[in-house]
Order: sequence, then structure tokens, then C-alpha cells
Amino acid sequence: MRFALIENKRVEAQPKHQGICPNCSQPVIAKCGDKKVWHWAHRTIRSCDSWWEPETEWHRNWKNNYPAEWQEIVLFDEQTDEKHIADVRTIHNLVIEFQHSAIKPEERISREKFYKNMLWVVDGSRLKRDYPRFKKSVGNFKRTKQQGVYVVDFPDEVFPKSWLNSSVQVVFDFCGLTTPDKDEIKNTLWCLLPQKDVTQAVVVGFRKSDFLQMTHYRNQLFSPAEKPQQKQITPQQPQFIIRRRAPTHYFHKGKWVKIRRF
Ligand SMILES: [Zn+2]
Repeated sequence: MRFALIENKRVEAQPKHQGICPNCSQPVIAKCGDKKVWHWAHRTIRSCDSWWEPETEWHRNWKNNYPAEWQEIVLFDEQTDEKHIADVRTIHNLVIEFQHSAIKPEERISREKFYKNMLWVVDGSRLKRDYPRFKKSVGNFKRTKQQGVYVVDFPDEVFPKSWLNSSVQVVFDFCGLTTPDKDEIKNTLWCLLPQKDVTQAVVVGFRKSDFLQMTHYRNQLFSPAEKPQQKQITPQQPQFIIRRRAPTHYFHKGKWVKIRRF
């Protein structure tokens, strides 16, 4: 965890400090070594939250795209008495979970049920095969009338299997910890929409800056008007090279504003 409580304040790990876990109120100790990002760890148990995964630099970098007050938010379900720590919950009540490790289907389903209004950001660079397989498939993506929205046949040949049946949006970050290079496909965040049909999926490509804007200002990634609907999409011819069209709108103070050309 990045934050523990000391005198009821959320503080980051500092060498030799002790704090209290905001989830289970047990003591936690600061781990401030050279190998892992500085964090708080429970003395006795691995973590009080069975969903918690050891934090990597990738997690920390992603979380830090959002204000500290939105990070590591303890959420409690009164009906089930369950308590979990969301990686990020925005002020608009959108939960964003950053997933680096493999996840079992049961856990993915439980987390989606618990957080409800959530989306996943997945580290697509963890397994070496994932990005080459994705990149090879991009040439077969079918463009639609909506900019950045594609129809993908046989998504099981494009995406890691564990994410195919997700009931929420799954955003793949293929850059991982590498600095962006000229590979436009890799630099794009690719969002897999929940599928209704196993043979076809809808995928949306974003610039990371757009994704961050949208998740900062809204309670969901797409506004109802923009939301790509699988049924309404008329696939056009397969596109062999992704060429980014010049953007027609930019996101400013929570609204899409048309770019004026002179
Ligand atoms: Zn705890």
C-alpha cells in the first residue's frame, strides 16, 4: 500500500516508520528498500485484502496520474460486510483497478460485482506474447463510423483469455514501464468493451492523455451519447494500416470542444 494511517493522517512509507492499515486497522511497517517501490506491509499476514497484489512501479505510476485523495480508497459493502481497497476511486465514483498479475476468473467476477462502476487497466507488457499477438491482429480490425472504434473478429485470438468475458471495460496498456516510442499501436490504450458475442468484440483506441481526461471528469469512460454500441456499428472494410485521423474535438474542462481550423 502507498498509504497508511499515522495519527489518522494518510502518509507514505518512510524508513523505520510504523502505521495503521486503513482497511483492517492492524499495524503495518514501512518497507523502504531498493528493489520494490516503497510501501507499507502488514506484519503478520500478506495483506488483509485478498485482492491486493504486490505493488509494482507500474501500479504506482498509474495511480499517480490521479490525486492522492483518490488513491487506495477503502470501500465497504454493508450487505455482505466485505471491505476492499480500490486502487483509484474518482470523485465521480468511478473505480479504476490496475492489474499487473494474472487474475482468476472468479476473482475478476467478484471484483466487478463489488465495485460495480469500474474499469480495469491491464499491464499488457507483462507477458511477452501479448503485444506481438495484438499488433499482428490490428490490420484486421474493422473501422466503424465512430473515430477510434473498431470491430474485432475472434477476439480470443487478439486478447488474453482471462479478460474476454469481463462485464466491464478492460483497457490494455502495452507500454508497461517502457517510455513511449514511435510505435503508435503500442502507445495507444486499447479498450475492450464487454462482449455480447464471443466471435466479435468492439475495441476503442485512445491516447493516454484523453483517457486520463475522461476518467478525471466523468463517472464513466464514455458518455451515453458516445458509447459505442455493438449492434449499431456497421463495420467497414478491414483497414490495413492504422492511420490516426486528425482529431476533430478536444477535451476541455469536462466537455468535448470542436477544434476550429483556420
Ligand atoms: Zn490491513
